[in-house]
Amino acid sequence: MGGCGVAVKSAAVIGAGTMGNGIAHVFAQSGYDVRLVDVSQEVLERGLSTIRNNMDRQVKKATLTVEERDAALSRIETSTDVAAVDGAELIVEAVSEVPHLKFSIFREIDRAAGNGAILATNTSSISITEIAAQTDRPERVIGMHFMNPVPVMPLVEIIRGLQTSDQTIAAVIEVTKALGKTPVEVNDYPGFVSNRVLMPMINEACFCVMEGVAEPEAIDTVMKLGMNHPLGPLALADLIGLDVCLDILEVLHRGLGDDKYRPCPLLRKMVAAGRLGRKSKHGFHDYD
Ligand code: NAD
Repeated sequence: MGGCGVAVKSAAVIGAGTMGNGIAHVFAQSGYDVRLVDVSQEVLERGLSTIRNNMDRQVKKATLTVEERDAALSRIETSTDVAAVDGAELIVEAVSEVPHLKFSIFREIDRAAGNGAILATNTSSISITEIAAQTDRPERVIGMHFMNPVPVMPLVEIIRGLQTSDQTIAAVIEVTKALGKTPVEVNDYPGFVSNRVLMPMINEACFCVMEGVAEPEAIDTVMKLGMNHPLGPLALADLIGLDVCLDILEVLHRGLGDDKYRPCPLLRKMVAAGRLGRKSKHGFHDYD
């Protein structure tokens, strides 16, 4: 394919949660055979039913035909065994954001996957270089950072680890375009570009609340109407999850060693109180 050395025809996705089922959805819709792997049959069934519901919604909106939906669904096979990745040219890992879990899964995938296969991770904050170092193929390990919800969001941040090869980058950029997404290449540093730029803005908005500069509603309105952001930073933080924001800020603070990334004490306090945003119905805004 295009002289890049790796022709991707089929993909495997590890993890069938929020991101994994969305990633399997877009691959299947774009004509790739997909093996979707998770820990239990029940989780896989739930993932598949989310994909079916989301595709039904596309059919209703006339952005997908019934035939295309059925063909896409028939391309997805499920398994609870990581060995199912064998034969896929591209494997995208989307399991929970726990470093030791990702490291052990990468060691397993490295053993189970074909020699030429590319191993991608959807991590939001773990070092691609460190994940790649778990394998015997660091030149074929890469970050493919999809955005939530995957079928809707056009960006895929493509992250080059220290040892990722140009061929791997080229192959993954080609696949990303075939999925109808826009790839943007970045280097492996804490938070990549997306969270390196977004999280300090969210953190600063938290400091503004803590210092009494303005109420959350006012801060969000300034950023929406004044900066043309579709969502204010605090509403966005509530949507992402305040615990997830705090974790990512800790990664930036630790990884870059600069106190400008120190998480706002009010953010810590809200997470400690279980005010996590939309998922707990309370965050900077209420969702009752
Ligand atoms: P999630 O909790 O919805 O899904 C994770 C899935 O991984 C679960 O279904 C779980 O059963 C599965 N899993 C756990 N251990 C496994 C194992 N050993 N083998 C196979 N499957 C296993 O999480 P998510 O929100 O989909 O996040 C997945 C990844 O995507 C994380 O790295 C996260 O940082 C990243 N990410 C998330 C978002 C988001 O908005 N949710 C956005 C971008 C990136």
